[in-house]
Order: sequence, then C-alpha cells, then structure tokens
Amino acid sequence: MKSDIEIALEATMKPIKQIAEQLNLSEQDWEPYGHYKAKLSDQLLDKVSTNKRGKLILTTSINPTPAGEGKSTVTVGLGQALNQLGQRAIIALREPSLGPTMGIKGGAAGGGYSQVVPMQEINLHFTGDIHAITTANNALSAFIDNHIHQGNELNIDPRRIEWKRVLDINDRALREVVVGLGGPVKGVPREDGFNISVASEIMAILCLSKDLMDMKKRLSEIVIGFTYKKEPVTVKQLGMEGALTLLLKDAIKPNLVQTLENTPAIIHGGPFANIAHGCNSVIATDLASKLGDFVVTEAGFGADLGAEKFLNIKTRAGDLEPDTVVIVATIRALKMHGGMEKDQLKKGNLEALKNGMGNLEKHVETIEQFGLPFIVAINQFPTDTNQEISYLKEWCEQRGIDVSLTNVFAQGGQGGIDLAEKVIRTCEEKEAPMKYLYQLSDSIEKKVERVAKNVYGAEGVEFSSKARKQITQMNELGYGHLPICMAKTQYSLSDDPKKLGRPEGFIVTVRDIYLSAGAGFLVALTGNVMTMPGLPKEPAALNMDVNQDGGIQGLF
Ligand code: ADP
Repeated sequence: MKSDIEIALEATMKPIKQIAEQLNLSEQDWEPYGHYKAKLSDQLLDKVSTNKRGKLILTTSINPTPAGEGKSTVTVGLGQALNQLGQRAIIALREPSLGPTMGIKGGAAGGGYSQVVPMQEINLHFTGDIHAITTANNALSAFIDNHIHQGNELNIDPRRIEWKRVLDINDRALREVVVGLGGPVKGVPREDGFNISVASEIMAILCLSKDLMDMKKRLSEIVIGFTYKKEPVTVKQLGMEGALTLLLKDAIKPNLVQTLENTPAIIHGGPFANIAHGCNSVIATDLASKLGDFVVTEAGFGADLGAEKFLNIKTRAGDLEPDTVVIVATIRALKMHGGMEKDQLKKGNLEALKNGMGNLEKHVETIEQFGLPFIVAINQFPTDTNQEISYLKEWCEQRGIDVSLTNVFAQGGQGGIDLAEKVIRTCEEKEAPMKYLYQLSDSIEKKVERVAKNVYGAEGVEFSSKARKQITQMNELGYGHLPICMAKTQYSLSDDPKKLGRPEGFIVTVRDIYLSAGAGFLVALTGNVMTMPGLPKEPAALNMDVNQDGGIQGLF
C-alpha cells in the first residue's frame, strides 16, 4: 500500500471556498490561508449561537504502542463515513506538534485513506498557531527576566519562577538551563528550563477559552511564580495580557481544512494528553457542533489521559458533552499488553491477545463510570488474523458491548460505514447527562485519588513531601477548587510505562503539583513524566527529504 504522504499528495482537494460553502458560510465568516486552508472568523460563533447543536462523538483508545493506535485515523474515517451516509459531519482535531512528527510517533493527520489534507502543511507549520503560542510564551519569559533586570519592582524571587520557556521540538538538552549569564548587562542569572510548546499553559488557555476576551482574562490570571514573600505574581501585575492577546489574535481563530473525501475538518489547538489536557479547542468543538449534525472529535492517547481530561476539564470549560464515545482498539496493542515484544506484533498470537484484553476492559469500565454510551472500534491492520479478529469481536459481544470492525485506513469512509451506523444509533440512546468523576469542591487529594483509583485502577496515591506542601499552598491561595490535569505516561494505566495490560495493586506517585491559574487547572505530575520529551536514537526526521521539485518524502 502507498505511504500516507503518497496518498495525500494524490488527493483531489476542493478549493477551501467550496468547503466553506458546504458549511453554509459566507465570505465574511472565513479568510483564506492559501488555496486549501482557511481561518474561521471569531465572530462566527456568535452568529451561529442559536443553531441547534449537533451530536458530539468523542474518539479515545486503549493504551497505545509508541506508533499510535489510529484514533486520528478512525476519527477522520468516521467523519467521512457519516458524510457518505448523507449526514452533515464535521471533524474537529488537534493540530500536530513537530515534536512527535520529527521524533518517534509521526504526524497526527490520520493515515491511509482517512487523512486530513494538505497533510504536509498540517504536520509542519500549518497556519502558524503553534509558532504564535511559542512566541507569546517566550515573550512572557523575556518580560519576566527584563522585569528583574530593570529593578524587580514586584520582588519576584528568581528561584521561584515557575514560567518556563518553550520550543516545539523534542530537545532534552534544554530541560534545565541557566539564563542571564555574562555579567550585569546580560541580565540576572537564574535557573530556567524549556517545555515543549504544546505543554505551555498558553496552549491550554487557547484551547479552553470561549472567545478572545475570555482568553485575555485567562492570560492575565497566569501565575508566573512567587515573590520573596511567597505571594503569587500574575501576568496582570506585569501588564502583559494585552500584548500576549495581540500575539494570539489570529491563533485563536479555528482552522478549516478537508479530508481526502472532502469532509470539512476544523483543526485547532494541540496540547499533548500525557503532559497537558490533550483536547482540541473549545471554540472549534463548539463551532463544529453548531455547523454540523455530527462532530467527531478526538482526545489524545488512551481513555486514562485524553478522554478523562476531556470529560473532567474540557466539558466544564466549554459546556460540551459527548453523545457517544468511540474506543479504538487494535489487535497489535492488545498483544503488546498481553506480553508480546513490540517488534513481534505483526505475527498472529491469540494467546497474547487474550492476555492483553484487560487493558480494553479497564477503558470500557472508565467510560461506563462516566455514564456515556460507547462503541468499541477495532482499527483493522493488514497483519490481524481472522482468528484474532473473531476473538476480539466475540469478547465484546459476550459482554454486550457494541463493536465495529473498521478499515478506514485502507478503504476511507467506506471502511467505517458500519461504525457510522452504530454511532448514529448510539447517539439516540443517551438518556441521562454524563456523571463527573469528582466534584470541584472535593479536596485536591480526593480529586487525584478518584482519577488514580477509578480510571487507572490504582490502589492508592502517594504524594511527595514537595507535592503535599504545594497542595497546602494551593489551598491557602484559593486554588483548591480547580480540576486536576494529570500528567502521566501514555503507555501504561499506571505511572510506570513498563506495567502493561491491566496492572493492579500499584500506587501512583505524585511528585509535583503546579498551578495553571489561567488555564484553570492544577497539574499533577506523576512518575517520571517529562514536560520536554527527548528524541529517540533514530528520529523519524532522518527519513525526511525534499527534492528539487519540492517533492516530499518521509512524512509517513
Ligand atoms: P493516534 O491518533 O491514535 O495516535 P494515528 O491515527 O495517528 O494514531 O495513527 C498512528 C499511525 O498508524 C499513523 O502513521 C497511521 O498511518 C497508522 N495507522 C493507523 N491505522 C492504521 C491501520 N489500520 N493500518 C495501518 N496503519 C495504520
């Protein structure tokens, strides 16, 4: 079969004007960014606010292999299938980060015949939103250092600055750095560090804001660190919220593109789900639900990460609730959870599959706890044997779980017709509102424990003494009511990436709790999770190339 980039480059894309017209948009509602991309106006949401809301479908998955299990692929394929059935479907995805694209996982524009296009642009610099976020984040860093250099009127303690610089590339060498070296004219030396841009609080703010003014308010509330008297210092005190909002005024507008089958797709915001909240923007999801009858969106990594945070954080910020959840499972990942080595996963192995089923079982239980209807979508790979497929289908059917074998990678929308039909039916079945896993009024410890025990299956949570002190401080400062953004490895239900399948009896260690006051959550760092990833021994970037005619290779 052809590579993703070969398929994408052969696509017959419609001019973006036609896609906008498909959504009944007038010329004032959007602005072109080239022939095949557009930004949607920030007035549009107001204009369509009285439209009936379409059904919202959330795609999630089991714990993945490092290559990903096809959530984006199934999301795109399902949108295409719904369109083939005559429904007005819109896809709402996150924007890929260059970290994984150049590193290990690859792009995030779907795969095979279920991709969003132009994938080479979406996977690289797209419409510049991540650059704008990086710039805004680093402008704030520059302002903080300048403030200290110019006399430090606010008494910022340079040892207690929590705001870090960011870059949208995996670069482990920048995790801890010292800035301001070189004598008095070069600033005040202090320890700093870099996160990947998609873990920036500004990315989270962009994704959780309802509109431009809400974003400005949230930006003003960012706490960058503490004074010598341990009092919080905000962006408002630095007077930076106007400039930051200005830097982000276009980035907050959602991006319109299309799939290989010309289904409209809105791609906007891209926080990672392991170290951030993992969902595309509230504005984009909201807008899509007002423009279409069905919106298919995705939350990153497994249901223990992206979906948990979609349901506990994003629904609270955006007043959005899924009507159906699609849990993507692959036979290869289940075999990995059943003990097979990663380089052997292409071989049939029913025993390993049987041993790995606990992982799917736990994610199913998680979605059940939220009280949401769901369907398991088997994302079929060419290496799956008939015996393995039958076993997985029967396993679901015996438990009364709706299951659909999908092959949207090889067949596009056609390979997801059965899933689409089941999704339409399931959306009608939702009877009651979803149940939250915790109340915002619960203590910080209880909120973390609820997620660790009910979603990860942990026996308990251990807080480091540093985390305990931080919890006391957060309560004293009045931030104890915020939801929790858990930062945890994506590979395991536990905080140890090596514990595969459905681990039991484990304790989750919270080593750090830090405040994202503008985003409106507290981040709990578990295990050894890093907010700046490193590159693997053989980064994906080594296979990438461009020839004299502009032909691209190696973008998967
Ligand atoms: P996720 O969103 O879960 O991270 P993606 O949809 O990005 O996963 O898919 C991960 C990778 O696997 C992509 O390179 C994609 O092309 C490939 N892929 C997805 N589904 C299939 C499939 N059914 N067969 C072969 N390759 C697939």
